[in-house]
Amino acid sequence: MMTISYEIGNKLYLNITNKCPCSCTFCIRQNGDGAYGSDSLWLEHQPTAAEVIENLKGRDLDKYEEIIFCGYGEPTNEFSLLLQACDYIRSVSKTPTRLNTNGLADKLNPEYGGCAKELCGRIDTVSISLNSPYRDGYMAVTRPVYDDAFDAMLSFAQSCKGYVPSVMMTVVDVIPKEDIEASQKLCDEIGVTLRVRPYES
Ligand code: SF4
Repeated sequence: MMTISYEIGNKLYLNITNKCPCSCTFCIRQNGDGAYGSDSLWLEHQPTAAEVIENLKGRDLDKYEEIIFCGYGEPTNEFSLLLQACDYIRSVSKTPTRLNTNGLADKLNPEYGGCAKELCGRIDTVSISLNSPYRDGYMAVTRPVYDDAFDAMLSFAQSCKGYVPSVMMTVVDVIPKEDIEASQKLCDEIGVTLRVRPYES
């Protein structure tokens, strides 16, 4: 059975794809032990929009505090599906939505000519994994397929500000204090909120 949605506390998490253009050193996708099959969050096939919506129909979306796209893959790697799922959610509920993303939507979906505008009215919060405030550090940790990923991610963060009520970038609390300060400075320059999240080992 595939776990397309799951609850943690009073939040609903949506897991819509395994695909991702990054290979973050800390990601469960990188553990390389072939254990995905036994992990309930590893999708056995790419769900269609109809499958995701069918799954959502089985839930009372009004009862959640927030509905969050995240999972083991990058939600914007299935951008059309993401938008269709958002449209379904909006058609039945006003529950706030959040997109947890690596910020590479525009690299993944150049045909949209800017993905941020598509999120307008569909997503309430975009949370982008910054990981490191420095290009080299970012590239070393996230290992994206795109050479210009760092700039693309920052530019996506900036473009989201015009369309999404809340835009934040995140780092984990185990990076050096100086890096957290540099991340804060970067976020201030871009005009988004920095969220320092606890490292989950
Ligand atoms: S961006 Fe997310 S899903 Fe992709 S490799 Fe990094 S942690 Fe994993």
